[in-house]
Amino acid sequence: MVTAASGHLCYFRIVPFTRFVRGKVAALVVFGLAAGASAAVPDLQTPGSGPLTVEETPGDRVKVTTDHWRMEFDLRNGGALDSIVFFHGSGKNVLVQPFRTYMDAWSDYDAPRTTFHSSRQGSVATLEFTGALGAPGRTEGPAQFHTVWTISPLTVRVDQTLRLSSDVSATTVGIGSTAVRGDLNEYGIRTGPADLPDGGKTIAASYGKSARTGAVLIGEHHAPLYLIFFHRYLEGIDFSTGSDLASWESGLTQRAGVGRFEAKPSEDGSAIEIRREPLALLSPATIRKGEYTFSYYLGLPAIVEKSNRKWRHVAFGHHPWPSDDLIRRWSESGVNIARLHNDYVADENFWHDGAWPPYDEKGMAELRRVIATCHRYGIQIVPYFSIHEFHPTAQGYAENEQQWKRSVDQAGTVLHNHIRQGEYGAQMCLQSGWLARREADVEKAYRELNFDGIYYDWGASLPCNNKNHNAKWHTGTDGMIELLAWTRRLISPRGTLILHLSGWYPSIAYENYGDLIVNMEESASGERMPRMDEMALMSVLVESAPRSPCPWGGPADQLVAHNKNNIAQMAVLGLFPWSLQDGPAADETFKLFRAFQPYKLEDYRLFNADSGAVRSAWPDVFGAMYSSESQALVVVSNTSGEHRKNVMWRVRPESLGFGRSATVTVKDTASGRSVAEPWSALEDGSMSTELDGYEYRLFEIHPSR
Ligand SMILES: [Zn+2]
Repeated sequence: MVTAASGHLCYFRIVPFTRFVRGKVAALVVFGLAAGASAAVPDLQTPGSGPLTVEETPGDRVKVTTDHWRMEFDLRNGGALDSIVFFHGSGKNVLVQPFRTYMDAWSDYDAPRTTFHSSRQGSVATLEFTGALGAPGRTEGPAQFHTVWTISPLTVRVDQTLRLSSDVSATTVGIGSTAVRGDLNEYGIRTGPADLPDGGKTIAASYGKSARTGAVLIGEHHAPLYLIFFHRYLEGIDFSTGSDLASWESGLTQRAGVGRFEAKPSEDGSAIEIRREPLALLSPATIRKGEYTFSYYLGLPAIVEKSNRKWRHVAFGHHPWPSDDLIRRWSESGVNIARLHNDYVADENFWHDGAWPPYDEKGMAELRRVIATCHRYGIQIVPYFSIHEFHPTAQGYAENEQQWKRSVDQAGTVLHNHIRQGEYGAQMCLQSGWLARREADVEKAYRELNFDGIYYDWGASLPCNNKNHNAKWHTGTDGMIELLAWTRRLISPRGTLILHLSGWYPSIAYENYGDLIVNMEESASGERMPRMDEMALMSVLVESAPRSPCPWGGPADQLVAHNKNNIAQMAVLGLFPWSLQDGPAADETFKLFRAFQPYKLEDYRLFNADSGAVRSAWPDVFGAMYSSESQALVVVSNTSGEHRKNVMWRVRPESLGFGRSATVTVKDTASGRSVAEPWSALEDGSMSTELDGYEYRLFEIHPSR
């Protein structure tokens, strides 16, 4: 339970905007661009992440295929990406317009000739397209393009270079502008740090839904950190700017805020046009002779038919350490992964990020006992690491603070994440020696204590202007990808990586590295009981990596009620929240785990509450179905606090994984009672149950034998 000693729910890791004293104005001052400077491409090798094939039809098409998607490039038109298809999404092309890179009327799409070269190393393919930008009619323009796609099954990175052999005057430069289908109607953005009053200390994502009116959805002059376009539960893509944010912001002319980053539905609503233009002016600007590279990640979700929904996840601390008896009870409830989450306690006895060993001899002995006991009960155990926080008391902090710190103001203020009288740690930037240090910390803990994987908190791209890394705006995005790929190599082949990615800092590019995604932190502290229709896009997204939402973390006297409310909704969305180690709120989560314990959900296909596979006549009673060839599992959940005496439920027979039979057996798993019903009973409204407030029930359905 949340004891008086631990005193708080230690997973609230985002320091609210209001906590910061407003920093000095972070005026964006750019002192010249190193022409041709481009960041190193992270090492994307990740063993065991599935196949990746590259097929070329010379002079025509290049296709890159994984288990999850196929991308196609058009060699007749500059090598432009013109198709993205998700096999377990709609199966239709997400793109309505190809990716285009252009300078006024000249575009890679109209290139007179395109040279293609590809290479392969392990699971990573590199595609290079080179030519001259051309005007319609294939007239050669004044700039050369060199487009490099570095593609692994998990990551797609683009380095788009423009080469000018002499100064050029232009009003507009676009990098990978495109259009997606209009039904990708939810969008989100994290703006860039320029012009923000706090200098970009925290930049949370904003989300919206397209109303298809032709209104501008996104309209920014500064380069954003992030953009997402998604059809909830179906498919979508996102864009994360590479670490060299300044190249997008001011690279072409040394002037900031001269771009156009825009998303706008087309007149007929069939498309959402996405412009990514680092330069968009009314009167021409001079772009000096030289080479300009713009890097970004194209996030393609690993959409599957059946999510690996096997994880039942508990977090624990050491005030007190879990007893062997408690660990046995976790196991009996179906818990199969536990994370040591111990990043702050008021008495200062906690695992200070960066410290080793984390505890005294007695504490280390207890930790070893907990690890061994978890293993005995078949529970994996992983330690908490913050990707960005370094505690000032840890070894190496004092001598490296100035070199490694993340800063956002001209004074280079160190950003401490304070909590009560203490702190979680100070924020470091991954574009520094901090990355190697963090890897060393993680590896030491992983190997010395026989952990089964890693849990990462603070999975986010954060802007920084520490001049020891780069005085111009940069982010840790490349370092994040580097760290995540490195971690997958570290824990290969069997280790488990849990990523905490909140809706504040979304990223499909990062999600793809996780076996389990912890999310919904942004909903976990609200005072209101969240409702089904308020589920945020990133909380549910699509069938890919399973998600483990944060339990509600408000006042103790409301914990049980809030968690019952939340679980009643998660139960029909395929979400299994992580649990506190014990206590009444945890008991609600363990009850959920036990209800599903008999089923290997990873072998079932989910039709969630939004799918229409299960319906009731109550507006606040929802249903979901897990289907397989031998049986289906129907979940009916009362998301209101009111008792519902008569809940009729119906199923859509096509969603059952098996064919029509004369009779079906329906078993209420709560009572254990089975009844044989005619097939028609599934649809005619004769199935009914009774549900208490926030109660959910499971029904097994299989053809009568
Ligand atoms: Zn930095």
